[in-house]
Amino acid sequence: MSARSLSSDGPHGHRAIAHSIRQVVEETLWPTRCAVCDRPGDLLCEDCRRALRFVDALRACPLCGAPHGAVQCTECNPVMLAGSHRDVFPFDAMASAVTLDDGARRLVLAYKDGGEHRLAPLIGELMAPYVPPHWLRERPTVTFIPSTRTARLRRGFDHGELTSRTVAASLGLPHASLFAMPHSTDQRKLSRHDRAANMGAALSLGIAGPLPSACLVVDDVCTTGATLYGAADALAQAGVTRRYALTFARA
Ligand SMILES: [Zn+2]
Ligand SMILES: [Zn+2]
Repeated sequence: MSARSLSSDGPHGHRAIAHSIRQVVEETLWPTRCAVCDRPGDLLCEDCRRALRFVDALRACPLCGAPHGAVQCTECNPVMLAGSHRDVFPFDAMASAVTLDDGARRLVLAYKDGGEHRLAPLIGELMAPYVPPHWLRERPTVTFIPSTRTARLRRGFDHGELTSRTVAASLGLPHASLFAMPHSTDQRKLSRHDRAANMGAALSLGIAGPLPSACLVVDDVCTTGATLYGAADALAQAGVTRRYALTFARA
């Protein structure tokens, strides 16, 4: 028997036992409930999981991931891009797992603002299959849009970091924190236009030195795309040649 297993930190040591007891007590006092319908049992019950509006990858735009844009996309065509002062789409491709509806919104809120960090692996595992095989050829480094310092303090964790780690682990890809924490302007207090301007401007890379040649940016919800586009621009300026984005939901 090794010295390690005799210590109180070992798998059957005092800490592990205390942890299990705490879990049992917590589960008794505050049983796990579905983040969407509040039914006791699982974090996401089978009915609510089935009710999510999963994107049909065959019908989605292969460039921007719009759920019905496979043949003709109304969201990444030249007119739409010109509206956001762009000639080309800033990512090589983007994809999402679900269309943002009430259920998906509740799930994201429970995760981000309800402090339910146990949802990270669940959400990450719903997202990972939406990475098409050809994105994996260059083994992109998975990264995330960091929360502001204020949001991180309020939540006690960075939800983007947790989800992106799960996505990286389930695809066997490297993970890195590449972006600097944005300034703490609360995005929710800004108008849609100001939010886009603020976020695009606020994102910058937080690391010095060479970057991976391919990156996959993970985020929870794509609303206007501005945040993600800002991330793509920062990566492009730093010489990242392959840029992909994956979000859980798409508005
Ligand atoms: Zn449910
Ligand atoms: Zn498109």
